[in-house]
Amino acid sequence: MKEVVIVGGGTAGTMLANRLARDAAPEIAGGELRVTVISNKEEHLYQPGLLYIPFRLKKPEELMRKVKEVLHPSVRLIFGEAVHIDAERKVVTTDGGQRFPYDYAVIATGSHPEPDQIPGLLEAGHIFYTVDGALKLQQAMDTFQGGKVVIAVGLPHKCPVAPLEFTMMFEDWARKKGIRDKTDITYCYPLARPYGTESVANMAQREFESRGVHIETFFLMEEVDTKKKELVSIDGRRIPFDLLVVIPPHKGSTFSQKSGFSDEEGWMPTDRNRLNLADQTDIFVIGDATNLPISKAGSVAHFESEILAANLVDRIRGGPGERLYHGKVFCFIETGLDKATYIAFDYANPPNPVTPSKPVHWAKLSYNNMHWVNLQGIM
Ligand SMILES: Cc1cc2nc3c(=O)[nH]c(=O)nc-3n(C[C@H](O)[C@H](O)[C@H](O)COP(=O)(O)OP(=O)(O)OC[C@H]3O[C@@H](n4cnc5c(N)ncnc54)[C@H](O)[C@@H]3O)c2cc1C
Repeated sequence: MKEVVIVGGGTAGTMLANRLARDAAPEIAGGELRVTVISNKEEHLYQPGLLYIPFRLKKPEELMRKVKEVLHPSVRLIFGEAVHIDAERKVVTTDGGQRFPYDYAVIATGSHPEPDQIPGLLEAGHIFYTVDGALKLQQAMDTFQGGKVVIAVGLPHKCPVAPLEFTMMFEDWARKKGIRDKTDITYCYPLARPYGTESVANMAQREFESRGVHIETFFLMEEVDTKKKELVSIDGRRIPFDLLVVIPPHKGSTFSQKSGFSDEEGWMPTDRNRLNLADQTDIFVIGDATNLPISKAGSVAHFESEILAANLVDRIRGGPGERLYHGKVFCFIETGLDKATYIAFDYANPPNPVTPSKPVHWAKLSYNNMHWVNLQGIM
C-alpha cells in the first residue's frame, strides 16, 4: 500500500488531502493507498475572516470548524505535533514518538507572525492575525474616539494585501463612525512604496492619498516605546500613536525550522514548478511553508494543491506526474467596508488591480462563505 503523509491540517493540507481522497478514491477503497494528515490543531480556522473581526463584521465561531469535519472520511487524521522528517528512511515522527512511514510526504505547516521580534509590541500594539489579537483590537476600536492610528508592516507576512485592506477599511469605518476628522492614519511599510508589487503599490498610493492616509516608506520597525507610545524605526524615526496595529514579520513553522532543510527563517526550499523540496523527489511543500517568490495566500495553497494532487495520483498510477505550477495567485482586496478590487497573477504576469466596486466586494464576501466548499477540493 502506498502512503501519502501530509504534515499540517490547515488550508493547503486539507485541500490536498480532500482532492486525493476524491481523485484516488478507487485506490483508497481498494487498500492500495492511504492518505494521512498530521495536525497539531483540532480546529480549522478560516484566517482571511480575521480581517473582519475588529469591525464586528464576523464572529470567531463563524471562522472555525473541527478539522475532522472538514476532512474527507477516507483520510486518516492523526492529532499530534510532527517533530521530524527522515528523508532517508522516509518516516515522519510525531512528539508522541509515533512513526509514519511514507512513499510521498507533503509539508504544509504554514507560517506564523513573530511579534517578539519587535520589543514592546505585545504590550502596546495590536495584531489581528490571531483570534485573540483580532478580538482585543475589536475591544480597542469599540472605545476609540479618534487620535493617532499607526498601521505598520514587517516582511515577510501572509496575505500581503491584508494590511492595505485593514487600513482602507479602518479609514472608511472611522468616517462612518463620525470620528474621521479627529483621526490621523499613518501606514508604515519597509519598502520604497506602500506595497512590493508596483501596480498594487500605485493603487494603494492613490487610495491612501485620496483619503488622507499618510505613508511612511523604508520604515523598518525596531521597537515600540511603550512609555511614550511611539513606534521606532531602525533609522530612529519615532511615530506617536494612540492605536497601533502591526503585522509582524513571519517565519515558517518550528517543524520546518528544525527539519534541517529550511533557511534560517523556516522557509522550505521548493521547486517553483514541481513543488518538491529541493533535491528530494518524494517530499513536497505547499502553502505558506515554501520559499517561493509569491504571496503566502490561501489561493496559492488552493492552486498548488490542485497541481500536486494531480501529480501524486498520476505517480501512484505509474505515471510521471508532470503537471507544473506556474505561480498562479488570486486575491480580493477590500478597499473599504463596501468596495473591493482583485488581482490575479503568476510568475510571468504581474497583477493589475481592477477599479474597486461594490460587486467585487460582494464577490469577496461570497468567496469567504465558500471556503468550506473550497476546502473539499472540488472546485
Ligand atoms: C488576517 C489574514 C487574512 C488573510 N486573507 C487572505 C485572503 O484574503 N486571501 C488568501 O488567499 N489568503 C489570505 N490569508 C492567508 C491564508 O490564510 C494562508 O496563506 C493559508 O492559510 C496558508 O495555508 P497553509 O496550509 O500553508 O497554512 P495554515 O492554513 O496556517 O495551516 C498550517 C497548519 O499546519 C499546522 N502545523 C504547523 N506545524 C505543525 C506540526 N509540526 N505538526 C502538525 N501540524 C502543524 C498549523 O497548526 C496549521 O494548522 C490571510 C491570512 C490572515 C492571517
